[in-house]
Order: sequence, then C-alpha cells, then structure tokens
Amino acid sequence: MTVSEGPEAKPLLSIRGLTKFFGSFAACDSIDLDIGHGEIHALLGENGAGKSTLVKMLFGVLEPSAGSISWDGAPVTIASPGEARQRGIGMVFQHFSLFEALTVAENIALSLDARIPLAKIAEETATVSKAYGLPLDPSAHVADLSVGERQRIEIVRALLQNPKLIILDEPTSVLTPQEAERLFETLMRLKAEGRSVLYISHRLEEVRRICDRATVLRHGKVTGACDPKRETPASLARMMVGTEVAEVKREGLADTGEVLVEMKDVSVAPRTPFSVSLKDVSLKVRAGEVLAIAGVAGNGQSELFDALSGEYPIADEGRIRLRGRAVGRLGINGRRLVGAGFVPEERHGHAAVPGLPLSDNLLLARSRSDKKAFLSGGFLSVLRRDAIQSAARRICSVMDVRKSGEDPAAGSLSGGNLQKFIVGRELDRQPSVLVINQPTWGVDAGAASRIRQALIDLAKAGSAVIVISQDLDEIFEIATTIAVISDGKLSAPYPAGDLSMEQIGLLMGGIHESHFGGEARYAS
Ligand code: ADP
Ligand code: MG
Repeated sequence: MTVSEGPEAKPLLSIRGLTKFFGSFAACDSIDLDIGHGEIHALLGENGAGKSTLVKMLFGVLEPSAGSISWDGAPVTIASPGEARQRGIGMVFQHFSLFEALTVAENIALSLDARIPLAKIAEETATVSKAYGLPLDPSAHVADLSVGERQRIEIVRALLQNPKLIILDEPTSVLTPQEAERLFETLMRLKAEGRSVLYISHRLEEVRRICDRATVLRHGKVTGACDPKRETPASLARMMVGTEVAEVKREGLADTGEVLVEMKDVSVAPRTPFSVSLKDVSLKVRAGEVLAIAGVAGNGQSELFDALSGEYPIADEGRIRLRGRAVGRLGINGRRLVGAGFVPEERHGHAAVPGLPLSDNLLLARSRSDKKAFLSGGFLSVLRRDAIQSAARRICSVMDVRKSGEDPAAGSLSGGNLQKFIVGRELDRQPSVLVINQPTWGVDAGAASRIRQALIDLAKAGSAVIVISQDLDEIFEIATTIAVISDGKLSAPYPAGDLSMEQIGLLMGGIHESHFGGEARYAS
C-alpha cells in the first residue's frame, strides 16, 4: 500500500454535513470530518453524543438522512457492511456480534464474503493474530472466552479483510493496562503500514498518546477538532462535556461496620473445559466498605460474580453468607430477598432486555417481595403500571439517565445511559449488599463519575459494596479495600492506601503477596 504524504494529499475519508435522524431527533447533525492516510483519528464525546451512530453510517449499518461521504477522493454511498468491507473499511463494534456456540474460526468465516475453507480461515486467523500481537486460539468456543478475547476476534476479523480504514468503537474499555498496551502496538503497526484508524474512546490519556487528530462530538454536533497531544485531559473533557467533570468525593467512608458478606473457601469446578475454576476463595466485606477486585479479564471474575450472586448456586449452603444468612444454595432472586443487589457485566440480554421499555426492565429485576409493591387488587395481581413508571422516572432522574422518550426501549439508550439506569435500578432498592461487575464498562467520564459516586454513597449509607473491575484508575478512585483475582485465586485484601499500582500488577500476574511484604488485612 502506498502512503500519500504532504499537505496536498487527499484524505482517505471525507464526510460533509452527515446527518442522522431517529424520528425528529438528530443523533448526528451536519458532521464534517476528514481522515488522512496513515492517521489515527480519535472520535471523542460523552455517551449519547452520536459517535456510534456516525460510525454505523460509515460502515453501512445505518443510512444517512443527509450529507455526503467521499472515499479516496470519490463520492460514495455505503449501503451495507459488505459494501463497506469491499471498499476497505473494517469495524470493531462496541457490542460484540459473535455467536457463542461457534468457534473463533467459525465466527470469522461467517463474516467473510467468499467461500474459504474453514481450515484456511483458522490458519490465517492464527497468522494474523500472531503478527498483530492478538493471541487467539481459532478452535476455542466463543462462549468460553473473556470479553477481552472476544474483542480480539473482532479485531482479527476486521484485519483479515485487509482494510484501509479500521474503526474501533471504545476498544479499551474492556482491557487491562497490559492488553491496552498491546492494542496500541497493533494500532501503531497499522499506522506504519499506511492504514488509517478511527478510534472512539473516553480515555483521554490514551487518546493523547496514540492519536494524531481528534474530533469532539456533543449532542450530535462537532464541538471541536484538535491535536490531542496539545490538549490536557481537562481541556479535552471540557470539550466533550461542556462543563467540568465532577470529582468523586469519598470523605466519610468508614469500613468498620459489621460483616455483611462472607465467602469461605469457595471452590467451583470449571463449567466447561475452557472456563476458569474458583480455588478456595474467601472474602469478607463490612458495612461501609467498598471491596474492589482487580484482575486481568478471564481470571475467574465471571465465576466469582456467579457464585456471589447465585447465578450459579454452590452446593455448600454455609460457605456464602449475606447479612449472616447462609445463602450458598439460593439463586439470584433468593439472594435479592435477603437484601442484596447485583449488576452483571454483559448488559445487553443479561442485565436488560433491549426490546422492552425501561419500566418492564425495572420490573424484571425485582424480587418477589419488591414486586408486591407494584401489585394491587390482591389475588388479581394487577400490575400498577403507574407505580412502576414512577419508579423508572425516579431512577432516571437520580442517575441523570438521558433518553429520547418517556419510557423508551432499553436498547435505544446509549451504553452509558443504560448502565446508569441498571445501576440506579439496583440502588433504588437500597440493597445492604451490592455486587457489581465492571460498573463503567464502555461508559464516558461523566456517567462513570456519576456511577462511582453512587457506589461510594451506598457504602457511606452503611451497605457493603463489591466492585469487580479491570480499570485500575476506577479501583483507586473508589475502593477502601483491594483484592486481586488471578487464575481463580483471590489474594488477601489490602487497605487501598497500602497497595501501589506496581504491586497490583504483580498480583494480577499471579505473583504471591509474600514477595512484596504487603500486610494482609484478614489473616487466613
Ligand atoms: P454514543 O455512541 O456517542 O454514546 P450513540 O450514537 O449510540 O451515542 O447515540 C446517540 C443518540 O442517538 C442517543 O441519544 C441514542 O439514544 C440515540 N439513538 C441511537 N440509536 C438509536 C435508534 N436506533 N433509535 C432511536 N434513537 C437512537
Ligand atoms: Mg457508542
């Protein structure tokens, strides 16, 4: 591929006045944007700013309402993803489009237009994944892979089509520092090959590090274009949000209350040959405490969440206690009745049903006793729609959920707004125990700070909070206590102030704590 350089070089992609209406609402409003050859271009903006909508038009998923797209100097229409791929546009979506029951290679085969034998696809997958530093086993089943690994499939799938432009929608929101680092190397390699990258992210530091240009969207309009290296994270955040992002306040956190959650030597065998087992996991969380569990994706986080929440109950009733009650064999609803709330990682299809309105999604998450509050007429069990809807309204107002209608389908909310709703839904029940997996997955700075503050406030009010997160900045921002999960084993808990970034990194890699002399808080 030849790389055109110099000021006269035509941009690879040039869009003018690109607009997308959903009904009368303009999700993208007259957007202008140029991307040069070999340029890494950042697209910044808060949740709901219109970033995903814009790139869906570029990839032929959505039809523009107005405006024009030029590709390599010629005006084009992009009617379908197949056409986008043919022209040399590859896309890695924010929400994965993979079939869980199929293998990595089978999933990739589905997206390729030609009829290539599976063995050849598996071979090329292995080659490309190796060349770009994205290790993948072509024969692994997607169901057994972590979110980070699933993302790699999407990237390799896009790369196999030899794109001139690759679009990544919030790729690092699910990665560890080390995985993100590897992705940056992949992107730098793509750039060196003369390919262009359109990079959607909320992480301002990384945008400043790897991106040549940035375009900032707010409420569907371009509010700024800049060289991110000349900006500060604060100035970029201001362009995105329009105001300063609120700093999380943690004064008044006191993690000395009674023990509300206890797990004692819980072991869980792998559910499939590829998933992770839990090995003698013990933990205690007190009223007022925020225990953050750090770790690299795929080290037992989902298994730990499933054991804590009752998604997969365990055989030994007494090994898990919530508020002193043995709950090991109870399912999710049984544990909710004891006063616990749970927010799983995968929001679409798991925490929320995209096709149902927010109010129905609220009802689905309620335990039997909560539901009674929404019932009237005794045995007639007539659902009181207005009660549910007013609860949904209350949640949206407390958590500042931005939505297009009164009670829209969950699937129409942008990622961060849906997450604010799901977290708000659990908080609205004032659970004395909250377990949340990846609370700010793919969420912008404004929404993330809102969610983190809500978790701290819940602990301040006397609840025990367990946060499973791969985002170390987040962990240091909210945790009173930190433990690290690695290969299904949970480290001893440490007071947050006693652990350095480097020590956490060592624990993530499975190096035992005795190697750096940390003071374990609860001796076992
Ligand atoms: P971002 O990716 O910047 O978070 P999106 O492009 O996903 O934002 O969404 C922009 C706005 O458009 C949001 O307010 C969202 O609710 C709305 N929106 C997105 N897709 C649809 C749709 N299919 N129907 C109606 N509204 C939508
Ligand atoms: Mg988006």
